[in-house]
Amino acid sequence: MKVDAFKDAYKKKFEDMFAVPYTSGSTTEQFQALGQLLRSIYTDKWVHYNQGKLDSKQKQVFYFSMEFLPGRQLKRYLLNLDLLDTARTALEELGLDFEAVAAAEVDPALGNGGLGRLASCFMDSMAATGVPGNGCGIRYRYGLFKQKFIDGYQIELPENWLRNPNSWEVRKESKSVIVRFGGNVWLEANQYGDLKPVYENTFDVLAVPYDTPQIGYRNDVVNNLRLFTAEIPPGHESYFTTPEQRKEIQEITEVLYPDDSNYEGRLLRLKQEYFMCSAGIQSIVRYFKTLDLPWSVFPDKVAIHINDTHPTLCIPELMRILVDEESLTWGQAWNIVKKSTSYTNHTILAEAMERWPIYMIEGLLPRIMQIIYEINRRHLVNKTALYGAELAHRTAPIDGDQVLMANLAIIASHSVNGVAKLHTEILEHYTLRDFKTIYPFRFNNKTNGVTHRRWVQLANEGLSKVLDQHIGNRWRFKPREMNILQAFRDNDEVLEQLQEVKLANKERFARFVKEEMKLDIDPTALFDVQIKRLHAYKRQLLQVMHIVDRYLTLKENPKADFAKRVFIFGAKAAPSYHYAKSVIKIINELANLVNNDPAIGDKIKIVFVENYGVSLAELIIPAANLSEQISLAGKEASGTSNMKLMANGALTMATLDGANVEIYDLVGDDNIFLFGMTADDVQKLREANNYYSRAIYEENPQIKRVLNAFIDGTIPNIEAEGREIFDSLVLYNDEYFLLQDYPSFYEAQMAADKLYQEPKEWAKRALTNIAYSGKFSSDYTILRYAESIWNVSPETNLLGEGFSNLD
Ligand SMILES: *Cc1c(COP(=O)(O)O)cnc(C)c1O
Repeated sequence: MKVDAFKDAYKKKFEDMFAVPYTSGSTTEQFQALGQLLRSIYTDKWVHYNQGKLDSKQKQVFYFSMEFLPGRQLKRYLLNLDLLDTARTALEELGLDFEAVAAAEVDPALGNGGLGRLASCFMDSMAATGVPGNGCGIRYRYGLFKQKFIDGYQIELPENWLRNPNSWEVRKESKSVIVRFGGNVWLEANQYGDLKPVYENTFDVLAVPYDTPQIGYRNDVVNNLRLFTAEIPPGHESYFTTPEQRKEIQEITEVLYPDDSNYEGRLLRLKQEYFMCSAGIQSIVRYFKTLDLPWSVFPDKVAIHINDTHPTLCIPELMRILVDEESLTWGQAWNIVKKSTSYTNHTILAEAMERWPIYMIEGLLPRIMQIIYEINRRHLVNKTALYGAELAHRTAPIDGDQVLMANLAIIASHSVNGVAKLHTEILEHYTLRDFKTIYPFRFNNKTNGVTHRRWVQLANEGLSKVLDQHIGNRWRFKPREMNILQAFRDNDEVLEQLQEVKLANKERFARFVKEEMKLDIDPTALFDVQIKRLHAYKRQLLQVMHIVDRYLTLKENPKADFAKRVFIFGAKAAPSYHYAKSVIKIINELANLVNNDPAIGDKIKIVFVENYGVSLAELIIPAANLSEQISLAGKEASGTSNMKLMANGALTMATLDGANVEIYDLVGDDNIFLFGMTADDVQKLREANNYYSRAIYEENPQIKRVLNAFIDGTIPNIEAEGREIFDSLVLYNDEYFLLQDYPSFYEAQMAADKLYQEPKEWAKRALTNIAYSGKFSSDYTILRYAESIWNVSPETNLLGEGFSNLD
């Protein structure tokens, strides 16, 4: 489409929709008009691609995830349709501000953090690589809370992301299914003498799908993200339903649980999980039946992937449908389930391992519980014979009065993967060792990835142009070819261009900070970024200690040789996570103190952005010089902000945790700042059982001075929080070993300061990080899933990326 045609189409669309001249109207209206225009452009493709999939009966992937964190879609769609420049030029020629129009789109926060963002990067990459994939999830009425800071405290406000109509979704009422809860169920012989469940007094909910297109990058693929909403079933609308029942139904898809490790509102959460699984599995079964093939080939046509344990009920739900409704034998059904299901483990934190009390599942999902009992019984019988009773019991889905979701997911899948090499090793050697004994070939690693389309092409157009100029544009299709950039490591022109781009991105962020926070930051200072959920294991507090340390040193000695730094934080805390909220309060009070201290000036500034999410990440990441990935080794499964930041030329300050290990393997010692204990060191220190944080506090004057600042009034307004944090570190023995790692962390930070004084040396290292980041494109991650887990053959993308030798 040419610019002029685009302009005409836009004007017409706008005036049709709003009945006023296109020159009037808000950016929201302009966005909506552009959205409708785009819809009319891609819908043909979508219909066509879907029909093609049906006709060819090719295998499809169904990716179940309780969370998706897609970010804004407008520019992503335009980029993938190769219309970004056209649309931008057209709107600007019409006198409109294209970036402001794009920014008027709401950023749907239907996820908490890394897990949901991974699901969205995967949706983008499935479409780009031509993997026929479907996302399956919940259309939460309210996404993750909107974060505000009031007096330094986190306040949670509802995020009404559907206040304006969603431009991309299509309601598919005719594809709705009924999901049954509660009631009584028993088995009765039917006319053939087969035992079939009979239900009474069930509570029925209608699951209505809303589909959102997932447009491939300059190919003809348009996949589907299907999110379900809970509604009153037809025929029940009137007086059959009490207001309480209506509320009970609406509630199911009302809110996303704002915690990515453990959950409040347990019963409702369980309802959500089953609602998504049942609706999704019913959709799949209905689709499979249209193919008119025998059940035995189901695993050749359908791959069901469960993203963490939240969708594990897909397993008993598919068993239920195959056995109860389709009259397969248990053995046939079990084979089908196992061959079609795969599971990704995302965490080794004990508190995040999902367990449900049997009585809850029994009350809410009586037939599902019967099926889990039977899975459990058969597991014990079969595995006891082979491995003895103890191992059989340790790996069984039922433990006492609880159902262990990970155990159920593992025994019913043909593949279990971790999300980084180190994480998978820890799973195999420690957390899931018993399963490794029983199923030695079931485990595999699939290191996470990120889509460079969003995180480089869209977020960092300046960098993208520099890459195009020097290495051509093939990297846009094959991100691994970014490594050609490494050949320019000693090229002054390239290094200068990279520095200019970085400075421009920092200036853009500085303007945002000035506008939103009324704070001046120096764009030439080192921008030091830690953006991720607030959690003790991620150790934002370690960075806080470092800032306090610098602050106290500068107060004592204003001439101390530190590089100017802007410390940038973005983080939401789960509303019930008291400790994390205390850390937020402390950072905000520290910011208040330091930012307003004239003796400190530009030597330290602290920027804690409110309401961190995908859109803010897109603004912050291109502006980062230093990427803080400082979790206690062994705790962060992979991390993905580390990859996004690397791709944008930030150097990583890292422990050897999660995917940091793989970043280190790629860039080598000279291009990363490593510090702290390894996962093995941590393990040994735990086993030795002689860690005593108070001794470190007493004996290390630097640490003592920093920690005292939390309790001696140095930082105002944190009496309670400061004491709480101090106690966690000194009195309660510092569970995450901050004091142990602090000295080497501080040293690594000083090395970063020193290097930053030599801009060219820094730029060389930034270049190397950019060059090797292509390895972490989620396109390759998806190709690995496709090849070795899902067994689907993707179509090739434009430049014909092959699928062998991915490593
Ligand atoms: C990438 C991303 C994350 C994950 O960050 P980690 O540092 O890997 O935990 C979380 N939230 C948003 C909005 C992201 O874009």
